[in-house]
Amino acid sequence: MADTAALNQPAPQTTEHFDVVIVGAGLSGVGGAYHLTRQCQGTSFVVLESQASFGGTWLTHRYPGIRSDSDLYTFGYRFKPWTGAPIATAAEILRYVGEVIDENELGPHIRYRHKIAAARWSTKENLWTIDAIRTDTGEAVSFTTNFLWMCQGYYRHAQGYTPEWDGMETFKGRIVHPQTWPEDLDYAGKRVVVIGSGATAATLIPAIAADCAHVTMLQRSPTFFRTGRNAIAIADELRALGIDETWIHEIVRRKILYEQDVFTRRSFTEPEVVKQELLDGVRAYLGPDYDVATHFTPRYRPWRQRIAFIPDGDLFQAVRAGKASVVTDEIDRFTRTGICLKSGQFLDADIIITATGFNLNVLGDIDFTIDGKPLDFSGTVTYRGAMFTGVPNLAWVFGYLRSSWTLRADLVGDFVCRLLDHMRAKGAKKVTPTLRPEDKDMPLLPWIASENFNPGYLTRSMHLLPKQGDKPEWQHTQDYWSEKDQLPAANLDDGALVYE
Ligand SMILES: Cc1cc2nc3c(=O)[nH]c(=O)nc-3n(C[C@H](O)[C@H](O)[C@H](O)COP(=O)(O)OP(=O)(O)OC[C@H]3O[C@@H](n4cnc5c(N)ncnc54)[C@H](O)[C@@H]3O)c2cc1C
Repeated sequence: MADTAALNQPAPQTTEHFDVVIVGAGLSGVGGAYHLTRQCQGTSFVVLESQASFGGTWLTHRYPGIRSDSDLYTFGYRFKPWTGAPIATAAEILRYVGEVIDENELGPHIRYRHKIAAARWSTKENLWTIDAIRTDTGEAVSFTTNFLWMCQGYYRHAQGYTPEWDGMETFKGRIVHPQTWPEDLDYAGKRVVVIGSGATAATLIPAIAADCAHVTMLQRSPTFFRTGRNAIAIADELRALGIDETWIHEIVRRKILYEQDVFTRRSFTEPEVVKQELLDGVRAYLGPDYDVATHFTPRYRPWRQRIAFIPDGDLFQAVRAGKASVVTDEIDRFTRTGICLKSGQFLDADIIITATGFNLNVLGDIDFTIDGKPLDFSGTVTYRGAMFTGVPNLAWVFGYLRSSWTLRADLVGDFVCRLLDHMRAKGAKKVTPTLRPEDKDMPLLPWIASENFNPGYLTRSMHLLPKQGDKPEWQHTQDYWSEKDQLPAANLDDGALVYE
């Protein structure tokens, strides 16, 4: 949905033109800017970001303990060595992204507080016109661009997803979503219920447990977790030997990626064995008497949802110490003083935290039109999970969900730069993914197959997302191991991309 304020603004006085407009200054957008400066020298570009600074997810989320759930050797960029512990805090990630901006002089290309409301393609001009609002002054500003590079992530930053439960309005304490954590929230000595058991709940609970009277993690069903030390032995050894950080980054990335590949494949070929290994990791912290079967044994196969890494088992240590506990049940209703569960149990609470996920948004809640006609992305088919049929000169970075997001941001970055070069070499002003005659009867499938990966935020919004087909050109595999070879080798002249 567009920002309706945009419609009430006076028309902008001037329109600036750039070869490329990048939307968003999170990890993907800053990475995109880097790739353009290295691989498409001489291309003019601007990064438009609605927030007051860079970092996207890592700027938005400010709840206690916020940290990555995947390692920064692969969640960091291919081109900038990560030199710290693998699981990083938001502050460490922001520092890293800031260094990328400074070291590559990307700062002058970024315009903060520019919220894009509309993007209009004109076939007559072969241009996108971008309508944005300056969130500091309310001024309407306008840009034109040949190519729109969408790096806006996948969820609405302004507000997280909170389901509606009966009686919520009667609860006398505070109800907080971690995505909009109030700075003044005082949880010291309070009874806190955290609804949810994903990575956010697992991070937040150990961070606040010591200060609270008690924290209860209330989950409808359990989640898989991996545990281990927040260190990578080989990285520490190579560092002790004085090896160059660039080498360490590459070696550690390869090792992690290799191990992840083995683990992912095993979770398909021997899911029971993998499941038992993960549960053994949990049992090692909770002891033999803890009811791991009820509270930590998911109903789904490992890897159908992202598996969060719990450094040093800190979540389980908080449970073992009695500062936190887990309840597996369903909510019947909220009352003035807590939550009534379907089993009849009652949870007293002073504060309720809804770690219940995101509102997925498709392409930044921007009103897209093509020659005046509203564009519905759910009616398009994706070209390799990066472009869309009938949508000219536009790419979207949707990273990996199971592996680190940024692995794909780097691959799509290379692809976009190669495509821009190819267009230049051909003298083409426009490239549009188009189904060929042989593709017309291809079965159309959801953006991500639910038997492959099915977290709630995707399942809730799958109908809004583009479709994929059953041929490599039209697939969105979410598989780093096949894409790392296929995307760089994709034939840009196989007829699926039509140039004009
Ligand atoms: C709490 C949390 C932890 C996570 N941990 C991991 C992890 O450990 N590993 C992993 O791989 N993934 C993780 N993810 C997923 C994570 O979102 C991505 O990995 C990555 O940070 C996304 O980067 P991005 O730049 O694509 O998008 P974002 O970080 O979402 O940034 C997009 C930017 O675009 C801007 N924007 C959006 N719409 C507009 C508009 N209309 N106009 C102007 N600007 C706009 C936003 O303000 C934002 O700054 C996590 C997600 C969350 C929420």
